[in-house]
Amino acid sequence: MSCGWCGTTFIPQHPHQKYCSKKCSRNMHREQKNRYARQRYRRIRNKEIIDTKVFKPGTSNLTENRLPDDTKEFERVRREKRRLKL
Ligand SMILES: [Zn+2]
Repeated sequence: MSCGWCGTTFIPQHPHQKYCSKKCSRNMHREQKNRYARQRYRRIRNKEIIDTKVFKPGTSNLTENRLPDDTKEFERVRREKRRLKL
């Protein structure tokens, strides 16, 4: 069969093998990741989906919901304050 990345004909070592080498498999994986990121970016720009990585002003890394555990919540606030150099 032929490699899904470079097109070279090869003999698969196992039934699910789609690429001739690890390098090709890795290249394809990277390409798919890039394609996904591009698609996601376009969808965010078209406002089809909301980018969860964008925080509203003032919220930064902290979520709107308080953690049920006070110690963990305190630790999270403390870490965030340090990150913002307060
Ligand atoms: Zn290949």
